[in-house]
Amino acid sequence: MTTVTDADVERLVAALLEDHGDDDEPAFLGAQFDAGLARMDYPVGHGGLDAEPSLQEIVDGALDAAGRRYGWTRNPMGIGMCGPTIVARGTEEQKARFLRPIFTAEELWCQLFSEPGAGSDVAGLATRAVRDGDQWVVNGQKIWTSLAHLARWGLLLARTDPEAPKHKGLTAFIVDMHQPGVEVRPIRSMAGASGFNEVYFTDAVVPDAMRVGDVGDGWRVANATLMNERVSIGSEVAPRGSGPIAHVLEAWASCGERTPDRRDQVTRLWIDAELLRLGSLRAQAKREKGVPGPEGSVLKLLSGHVQQSCSDLVVDLLGADGMLCPPYTAGPVDPRASDEIPRHPVLAFVSSPAGTIAGGTNDIQRNILGERVLGLPREPGFDPSTPWSRIPRS
Ligand SMILES: Cc1cc2nc3c(=O)[nH]c(=O)nc-3n(C[C@H](O)[C@H](O)[C@H](O)COP(=O)(O)OP(=O)(O)OC[C@H]3O[C@@H](n4cnc5c(N)ncnc54)[C@H](O)[C@@H]3O)c2cc1C
Repeated sequence: MTTVTDADVERLVAALLEDHGDDDEPAFLGAQFDAGLARMDYPVGHGGLDAEPSLQEIVDGALDAAGRRYGWTRNPMGIGMCGPTIVARGTEEQKARFLRPIFTAEELWCQLFSEPGAGSDVAGLATRAVRDGDQWVVNGQKIWTSLAHLARWGLLLARTDPEAPKHKGLTAFIVDMHQPGVEVRPIRSMAGASGFNEVYFTDAVVPDAMRVGDVGDGWRVANATLMNERVSIGSEVAPRGSGPIAHVLEAWASCGERTPDRRDQVTRLWIDAELLRLGSLRAQAKREKGVPGPEGSVLKLLSGHVQQSCSDLVVDLLGADGMLCPPYTAGPVDPRASDEIPRHPVLAFVSSPAGTIAGGTNDIQRNILGERVLGLPREPGFDPSTPWSRIPRS
């Protein structure tokens, strides 16, 4: 880490706003990246200043005040997961090629992990990558791939050695989503919009230079990505009383039937939302001192619960109105169009279960906490030395 002071950062942000205040969004973000103000702890020349992550607050505060702060959700997989993974495990060439357009959201990314037979047990995946000289040939199917329909690049986890134990025969790659061997088929969710997809690989080609980490090191790469994913999901520290709980209070204010039972429900949820906010602040402070740990799982659990319970209660408080839903878009949503996609209460209600599944289900988060935080024994029946090819699969 280099020694960068608060005053250094203030000076750099002031210069950014002075020189680029009138630029359009991608140009401004490009200038922010070039000034090292994209993410303080990233290396110099790759969007950061190799400095204390806590200094980012100075940047964010100043950009917020100037109306030029753009959230990570405009390229959620890229900024939240794939970018940090490239910084941690990628080559210098990969950092130079991919980090800037990830930050400016000129190139959206997707995360190609889950498969029809491997979601929670992602290490059991079957998509194969076979080496052919200085490239790899990929065949298989992924599912639930958010934003694959818009993504320029994908972070792919594939099996490169079926005879190795399941966690050891995996390798991570950056795959060009626009090549002929990649077919993306949208999935319609019950909330209407097609945010995720099936992705089919048929002799898709990945140059070896697009491998992330060593051959067989894919599980370690994937873990870095998944921990960043959980942290990203639980990291938005909304101001007190905002977010899903604000919708509850709005519905409570106009509710005709304010029973003691409902008042109790509102109060409990307010407390949970406040716990989530304070827990996120605490995790943020801890993260500033090191890499994300299993506490991301606590926040992910709590944020899924708050989101789902709040949208449940809103629909309940709305009474008969809670059954009415406007015509909703079935088309794919582009995260760059808006930082916060406007949500009708009924759409929030039908979308909310997704938060308890995406990024690892609630059950899996509890397993992680049991094993890594409480030190409980692993699930029975797991043999880390059985070759993947000999594990029965449906
Ligand atoms: C909105 C959304 C977006 C997504 N985006 C992406 C994406 O961009 N990229 C990607 O790769 N994936 C994505 N996913 C997939 C997601 O990661 C998986 O759905 C998730 O990991 C669960 O896997 P599964 O659906 O195969 O369920 P399964 O693993 O089949 O689980 C079924 C049920 O069994 C339970 N279960 C399974 N194993 C255990 C266990 N060991 N102990 C206790 N209970 C268990 C689960 O909790 C669940 O209730 C997304 C999912 C959603 C909902």
